[in-house]
Amino acid sequence: MKKNELQQKIIHWLFAGTTTRSELIEQWQIRPGTLLKAVDALKIDGLIMEPNRKGKKTGRRASELVLNSEYGCFIGIDLHIHYTAGVIMDLTGNLLAEAFIRSETEKNANIARSEIAECIENLKRQLGTDHPPILGLGFADPGLVDQGSGISLVAVNLPGWHDFDITAWLNNNFGIEHLNVTTSAAARIFIEANALGQTAPQSIFHMELGTGIGGSFIKSGAVFYGDSGCGMEIGHVIVEPDGPLCQCGNKGCLEAVAGEAGIRRQVNAMLSREVITSLTKNISIQSFIDCVNSGDKVATTMAFKIADKIGLALVNVVALLNPALIILSGELTGMGSYLTNSIEQTLKMNCHPRALKKLEIKISELDSYATAKGVAMINRNSLLIRKQC
Ligand SMILES: [Zn+2]
Repeated sequence: MKKNELQQKIIHWLFAGTTTRSELIEQWQIRPGTLLKAVDALKIDGLIMEPNRKGKKTGRRASELVLNSEYGCFIGIDLHIHYTAGVIMDLTGNLLAEAFIRSETEKNANIARSEIAECIENLKRQLGTDHPPILGLGFADPGLVDQGSGISLVAVNLPGWHDFDITAWLNNNFGIEHLNVTTSAAARIFIEANALGQTAPQSIFHMELGTGIGGSFIKSGAVFYGDSGCGMEIGHVIVEPDGPLCQCGNKGCLEAVAGEAGIRRQVNAMLSREVITSLTKNISIQSFIDCVNSGDKVATTMAFKIADKIGLALVNVVALLNPALIILSGELTGMGSYLTNSIEQTLKMNCHPRALKKLEIKISELDSYATAKGVAMINRNSLLIRKQC
């Protein structure tokens, strides 16, 4: 094994926590001297520490190898249709600052840019002057991105947000060189898997159910992006041939049925029939959920139909990817068991029983900063690994 490869492996191992030299020697079956050289190189670079190792002898107790929190910190920004959330984390993943801006009005690209700038300035203010250097910034985009060039391709729910060189904009405005631009769904699955730690199964699918509907997939710690950044677009799987028109131009996409606009369209159509319900015109997802949870008959009937369509899209996911865990996030998960029970039923009726044997469906327990944390950690990892190349 080459030294750089070994250094990369050590860094990778430390992303998941701490370790000791003896643990790594045993795990990788390498000579102590080979490991010593790689560990010393990382210590000289300041990336890792061995806080309990005194001199050359460690005594009987194995000393721990840890990432050096003082080495630097990383910003994560999550641009969402209804808010912008940001965090700063140190090298070990500790949270140093967090900022949240709720979007008051209908958001467009200009408002989005002001929110991002405000969020970054707010985070920097909280950090003050005595802090490890800011080494990078990860940006979670609400739409499609070109992973290679770091360009925002299009977010259909955010007017004016298309073909935008967000990487250059962030670099010019904030002077940060190491930047990662990824989809918010990818950042989310990364942190979901991270939060599960050793208990994370090999394959996890994530579905965000909010204004739009997004998906992401992680296998053995690696997020799947697709060759042109269009992978896992679960919102645009067709669940109703000849169904309502989607913003992407197709008919009957899941997003057109179960996204915010789709739910509104169905509610408005229902109201024109003069039914007895507490649903109102142009309802928000939150108000729709309140009606469902209060037992409104029209709302619950709609909720089961919507959940069934989500289940139908997930039938394709199960058939293609065979994940052991499906995590749901986003506003619509407020439907709770209405959602999960109905999805489970649809999967049972349509999937191979063997594919469901290990499958668990759960609603995410992470907070509103999860995606920002995910993209900050993606940024950290890419910088640290790049340093060893
Ligand atoms: Zn579509």
